[in-house]
Amino acid sequence: MSQPCIFCLIVTGQAPAVTLYEDDQTLAFLDINPINDGHTLVIPRQHHQDIHSMDEAIYRAVAETTRRLTEKIHAALQPDGINLFQANGKAAGQTVFHFHNHILPRYADDKMVVEVHGKLGVDHAELEQLAERIRQHL
Ligand code: AMP
Ligand code: ZN
Repeated sequence: MSQPCIFCLIVTGQAPAVTLYEDDQTLAFLDINPINDGHTLVIPRQHHQDIHSMDEAIYRAVAETTRRLTEKIHAALQPDGINLFQANGKAAGQTVFHFHNHILPRYADDKMVVEVHGKLGVDHAELEQLAERIRQHL
């Protein structure tokens, strides 16, 4: 039998978690291996592996809980900044396959590295071609 989903076990109270907030559709709790104090995870109660299997209503609920908790963490801990992070798939760094948003309080001297800046100087024709591939699915 495959391993039970650890976040589903937290939702049903069969695994422990330090919960910050819960409502009908979502749950927010502290990460057990925090990058910084206040590192929080926000999940849907319903099991969804990643963003690809979530419908709009559930995604909106998780997004709103994430926004709300981000404001509360900002007020309580007054970090220098906050990153939101969410991984879909092993290649993207996902290790728990129940959708979750990370709320990551940041400090000017912390050691976390976020790199979202890539190659310089891609021309517009190349970007247009890529955009067209995506637009065909909109
Ligand atoms: P990701 O790599 O984006 O899938 O993130 C999974 C996160 O879940 C990691 O930051 C883990 O530290 C965290 N995590 C795993 N198990 C637990 C748990 N039982 N309670 C709280 N956080 C957990
Ligand atoms: Zn689950």
